[in-house]
Amino acid sequence: MAFAVRSVDKALLNFQSFLSVSQKTEKVIWEKADTKVAIFFINDIEFQLCESLKDNGRFSEWIEKYGEGLHHICYEVDDIKKVLEHAEKHNARLRKCDACNVYGSHPHPEGFVAFLDDEVAGTEIEFMQVYTEEELKKYKVTGV
Ligand SMILES: [Zn+2]
Repeated sequence: MAFAVRSVDKALLNFQSFLSVSQKTEKVIWEKADTKVAIFFINDIEFQLCESLKDNGRFSEWIEKYGEGLHHICYEVDDIKKVLEHAEKHNARLRKCDACNVYGSHPHPEGFVAFLDDEVAGTEIEFMQVYTEEELKKYKVTGV
């Protein structure tokens, strides 16, 4: 699950102080998306703290509207096409990936991703089909 935060440094410090998240947690920059991110696990759930590095970034715009908080939940799936077909059959709306300007399934660094609009309890849904070894070689360079 991904949280939109104003400051990754500050938010991470709170997770480390209150929830014993590892002091070794690294912060990375996603260049194409102009986003600074800290990634860590609590139990088996991956947490991402996301800070836009520009004012009109995906997360800073979201914070302007809603304040800091849960931005989206990513579900790892085995077959993204099947999952999207199922969701669309039930009238789900796809959301554009702002970084890539694409609707529906498309390659990102770790796998194929697609976004649904915020119809599920007001939270954006991301699906990810993690690459096989072969797909990883093919798509790794082209993603966000
Ligand atoms: Zn994308």
